[in-house]
Amino acid sequence: MNKFDRKIREVTGRDLHSAEVQTVQVNVGLRCNLQCRHCHVSAGPNRSEVMAWSTMESILRLLEALPGCQVDITGGAPELNPHFKRFVSELRTAGHPLQVRTNLSVFFEPGMAGLPKFFREQQVQLVASLPCYLEGNVKAQRGAGVFEKSITAIRQLNELGYGLEEERTLSLVYNPGGPSLPPDQTTLEEAYRRELREHHGIEFSRLLTITNMPLGRFLDDLKRQKKDLEYRTLLADAFNSGTIDGLMCRHQICVAWDGTLADCDFNIALDLSLDQSLPSHIDQLDPATLTGRRIVTGHHCFGCTAGCGSSCGGALVA
Ligand code: SF4
Ligand code: SF4
Repeated sequence: MNKFDRKIREVTGRDLHSAEVQTVQVNVGLRCNLQCRHCHVSAGPNRSEVMAWSTMESILRLLEALPGCQVDITGGAPELNPHFKRFVSELRTAGHPLQVRTNLSVFFEPGMAGLPKFFREQQVQLVASLPCYLEGNVKAQRGAGVFEKSITAIRQLNELGYGLEEERTLSLVYNPGGPSLPPDQTTLEEAYRRELREHHGIEFSRLLTITNMPLGRFLDDLKRQKKDLEYRTLLADAFNSGTIDGLMCRHQICVAWDGTLADCDFNIALDLSLDQSLPSHIDQLDPATLTGRRIVTGHHCFGCTAGCGSSCGGALVA
């Protein structure tokens, strides 16, 4: 039993188990136009892993047993998967609420200019990473020119109603520039709104703060700075039992680019598939077995329970 499991048992008296699945998160591949310093899946332009159409068909079949379930598409830059638009269209035809995690700058890659209109037509909700409202901080994490492209992309989305109309949400995602916990989400959202409105004339729906996980390139960076142990200790010491109910693994399942199943995208990055009592590949899964499954955890899980908590939907408690 790992340290996180021990902590959960100490607080709740049992292991961490899932509730009903409300979201299927799909990681359609690790190819990305960026190569961010904090990336937990080490995505980049040189990664060749992309989800095949046959795996997407398996997901569509799984979702027939989960009507109304939200689908959350991530990557890499998911838009770079060659089957992306077809997958989105079929999910929408099947009636699933859909959100896509975009890095915004991908709109300026060859052949991608029509993405904002496509998103609007398909009623896709957007979650867009913008790790700071200051250009210098974004440049340090994501590279030169990314901030300007992101601002231009948000402007295009605003023109289509995103970030302004209730049914077209544009959530922005903040993550710290280094080994520290995110600040208070509500306070930071006010600062984002003020700065982006005053300096760039752009709007968004809400801000999500996400804690950096000690995985992938972020972990490599910590090790180079000899701060990995210090950061892991910081996360474990900030354990907040109030975050347990809302942990995203309790309400979702993740499908990796090759059809492997996991409790969350972080577990995918660590090659941790579902509990051994369940199959590890989507083609063998019986959807009826998902609720109440034991969650596979590790020391990295303290990243989700530290402070106000962290998930793909931002902080877990106020
Ligand atoms: S953090 Fe997102 S945008 Fe950056 S390299 Fe990773 S997948 Fe791409
Ligand atoms: S890292 Fe994954 S499995 Fe661990 S607590 Fe967070 S969401 Fe759950």
